[in-house]
Amino acid sequence: MEQDLQARPLGLYIHIPWCLSHCGYCKFFTQAYSRKASADYFRLLISEKEKQLQRGLCELSTVYFGGGTPSLLSAQQISELLSGLPLASNAEITLEVNPIQITQSFANELRRTPVNRLSLGLQSMRDEELSYLQRKHRAADIPFRVKLLQEAGFDNISGDYIYGLPASTTASMCSALQPLLELPLQHISCYLLEIAEDSVLAPDIALLPSDDALAEQYYQMRKLTIEAGFAQYEISNFARPGSESRHNLLYWQGDDCLAWGASACGYYQGYRYCHPADLADYARIVCSGDLYALQDSEAAAIPDYIMMRLRLSQGLSLSEFYTRFGQDFREGRQIKLDQLLRLGLIQDDGENIRLSEAALFISNSVIAELL
Ligand code: SF4
Repeated sequence: MEQDLQARPLGLYIHIPWCLSHCGYCKFFTQAYSRKASADYFRLLISEKEKQLQRGLCELSTVYFGGGTPSLLSAQQISELLSGLPLASNAEITLEVNPIQITQSFANELRRTPVNRLSLGLQSMRDEELSYLQRKHRAADIPFRVKLLQEAGFDNISGDYIYGLPASTTASMCSALQPLLELPLQHISCYLLEIAEDSVLAPDIALLPSDDALAEQYYQMRKLTIEAGFAQYEISNFARPGSESRHNLLYWQGDDCLAWGASACGYYQGYRYCHPADLADYARIVCSGDLYALQDSEAAAIPDYIMMRLRLSQGLSLSEFYTRFGQDFREGRQIKLDQLLRLGLIQDDGENIRLSEAALFISNSVIAELL
């Protein structure tokens, strides 16, 4: 892990944990925003960057600021974090943005940074759903805010959408999604709401739609999104041609991605590593310089790869699997593959194995059969 020079595409994820308030369904590592804590954390990120640069860093094809709420960084902080990095000339640099923060001055300031792709936490275009999700923005403000970003020069904007809320129906899902599909977005990520048993929303678990009802919502969501001109390229992700998230494709294709910040997880030269989800522990590893702490074993790389690859519409390439791991993917799996083929859950053209349409909503259990 000491030799950092390599030839394959390389991404960088930067975790910004601050949030103005906590949303009950959120599973990410977040912290209440404070100016002082945020400034201290920023210095740690700069320190992590300097240590990474000292080790040698090859060209970055993508950078992704995720959180948390990365849009709480100032434009100057974003530029400072990116300055001195070996960015590819066409690097995709994404910032997750809380819609409530979008104003004309925010958009214009951000445009002066190298950020060229925005991911908006829209989640729904129904106010009752936004309230339930504890989001502060309101649906009626969204078209205007997206326009401000466009006018500032951003032409690669993604929106997140959440379906499967308690007591939701296919009809209510459609009314929350349809106005979102009419926005000038290049990319949409559609996620199923998951409520953790230890979250404040736990009492609502009993109100969640049945699996059959959720499957109906998923396939209707998929149909509407495709009809609106977005191509599905991953189970939950849809893009206009050429606007697929290059950063997320790095994960799904098993390419390398470095990770900075508390709780951030990276994949590097066959190892998955995670920084601690704790600010004090993160500060300790930055000070010690042990940037690749908490590694998974090399053996975990194959299940991770299978899980990620099969999420993609293009599926898993048998020849690429062999080149990468020196193993025949079919070996020890052919009986399962035949069963899944008979059940109509996978397609196998001799070179690529991919999930069938019928398997998309139950992808985790289908993929688990092949791990
Ligand atoms: S704003 Fe986003 S990251 Fe922060 S708590 Fe809400 S869902 Fe989680």
